[in-house]
Amino acid sequence: MASSSRTLALGKLAVPHTGATLLRSTQATPRLFLEASRRTVAPRPAFGSLQGPVSRQFRRGYADQVSPIEPAPKKRRFRTLRWAWRLGYLSALAGVAYIGYGVYQDRHPDPQVVPDPSKKTLVILGTGWGSVSLLKRLDTENYNVIVISPRNYFLFTPLLPSCTTGTIEHRSIMEPIRTILRAKKASVKFYEAEASSIDPDRKVVRIFDNSEVKGDMTETEVPYDMLVIGVGAENATFGIPGVREHSCFLKEIGDAQNIRKRIMDCVETAAFKDQSPEEIDRLMHMVVVGGGPTGVEFAGELQDFFEEDIKKLVPEISDRFRVTLIEALPNVLPSFSKQLIEYTESTFKEEKINIHTKTMVKKVTDKTVEAEATRPDGSKEKIVFPYGLLVWATGNAVRPVIKDLMDRIPAQKNSRRGLAVNEYLVVQGTRDIWAVGDCAVAGYAPTAQVASQEGNFLARLLNNMAKTEALESKVRELSSTLNLEPGNSAEISRQIEEYERQLRRIKDVKPFHYSHQGSLAYIGSEKAVADVTWFNGNVAAAGGLTYLFWRSAYLSMCFSTRNRLLVINDWIKSKAFGRDLSRE
Ligand SMILES: Cc1cc2nc3c(=O)[nH]c(=O)nc-3n(C[C@H](O)[C@H](O)[C@H](O)COP(=O)(O)OP(=O)(O)OC[C@H]3O[C@@H](n4cnc5c(N)ncnc54)[C@H](O)[C@@H]3O)c2cc1C
Repeated sequence: MASSSRTLALGKLAVPHTGATLLRSTQATPRLFLEASRRTVAPRPAFGSLQGPVSRQFRRGYADQVSPIEPAPKKRRFRTLRWAWRLGYLSALAGVAYIGYGVYQDRHPDPQVVPDPSKKTLVILGTGWGSVSLLKRLDTENYNVIVISPRNYFLFTPLLPSCTTGTIEHRSIMEPIRTILRAKKASVKFYEAEASSIDPDRKVVRIFDNSEVKGDMTETEVPYDMLVIGVGAENATFGIPGVREHSCFLKEIGDAQNIRKRIMDCVETAAFKDQSPEEIDRLMHMVVVGGGPTGVEFAGELQDFFEEDIKKLVPEISDRFRVTLIEALPNVLPSFSKQLIEYTESTFKEEKINIHTKTMVKKVTDKTVEAEATRPDGSKEKIVFPYGLLVWATGNAVRPVIKDLMDRIPAQKNSRRGLAVNEYLVVQGTRDIWAVGDCAVAGYAPTAQVASQEGNFLARLLNNMAKTEALESKVRELSSTLNLEPGNSAEISRQIEEYERQLRRIKDVKPFHYSHQGSLAYIGSEKAVADVTWFNGNVAAAGGLTYLFWRSAYLSMCFSTRNRLLVINDWIKSKAFGRDLSRE
């Protein structure tokens, strides 16, 4: 931890230090120049007495004497600078041209082909990490693809905590599904609807329109030949009374907007005329339940928002703002390495974020969180936290549509956390149904990394299956004509052999294997922690440079160039002008 903060401090000093060195070096040249000239030109002439050509001649002579010693490095330095500038300029131009071309391509996609109606119908449920990764790589010419989701956009969840405080605007991390589908070669149907049940025997999905505007038709069935389920998970409340009624969750865009409104409502209500000190303390107390990456990132963002903006603009309540993080386990960020956990906890202490580990929430009311803490000696202590805002970020629970499907499949009767899948992501006990992401139990953590790798794998698998079917039908067709006409058998045999060789290669699909790239989390005060996989080992890093890495990693992972530009713009905007404190 100490070494990381030291690295950061050196990093901060680097710029003024370099500046000072440059200044010294530019001053050093004339001093050397003078010393050299003093040594070579003696005795020193009276400059003021020299006029016209004589003076020019003298000056030339004076320069000639010293020129072999000093001006050369100066010229070389400027030449290097000039080349560096040219290189930078050209790179910037190339970057702008590249981005411009990408944007043009997105705005002017090629015309789409209409898929062959005789091909199989592939239904994809959800527009999250798993489903969209699958869609991105799927060759839609091979199937009649139908996407069904109540959300007509993809959401880049890793930056969702930044939306709760206005560091990033919510539309910057949303990508319309219609744009994604328009970029496919063959057209894809999209229904904005929620799947309420899946009948694996009849091979139909029942869907209903849960949006505000409803037409005459609000509920129907969609038949499928192949089904991919990527509906994610819902928030786990563990049946604790009052959680669903009184807390804010952090999973969807609406949740982030709700939290943002609520923070400012608490601040303005606390600043209301004649508000009692106890009520101000309650309103300005923000409680976060769940010490995983989502809870930690949100607590960090909240503290930044307060320190950088609210404190300046609403100074009368500035000493009352508190953030408390409650976690049932012995430490926060349980999936990170020990030194990063310690670094996070000590950074939170510096940021004045209270951490209560080994503390279980028992009940939530509209103004308090009642919890039970385990003391070091094992005894229990009841704690009541009055709060203005309560954010619940404790993990996932199975969605009703998944529970319903699991009840219909006998092989799933012992699965508790979602649809158990095999090594090819096929839902156990079914044929032609696959599951990806948080709704599937494949033995991995419920993360975007896992969901997107599963989506990519499935796209490869489905593309291969389509190619296999096409090749097999060609082989069948050719072998039915073999030896029927004299003279064609050699050529047909050669073709059959070639197709079978291709088939062997395509059919050789390895089972799904997850490759962990690392874990990242922002912890506030422009610091982040990272456990990154490096060759066969693991590199743990923390501090300001890791924060820059965190930013660049998430920026590169954003869905589109549009998202990337919008996120950069938001970062610059919130840094330059501060976050927007308007409540709506
Ligand atoms: C705030 C936050 C930050 C996170 N940060 C990270 C991170 O930094 N790194 C990381 O790896 N992971 C992160 N995660 C976890 C990651 O977002 C999830 O693991 C990932 O979204 C799972 O992908 P998915 O496709 O299974 O589900 P989701 O992305 O949740 O998508 C589910 C989709 O299904 C749709 N749907 C829901 N119900 C139905 C239904 N009945 N019928 C049809 N469609 C339905 C939804 O509308 C949605 O489109 C974060 C999660 C959150 C909430």
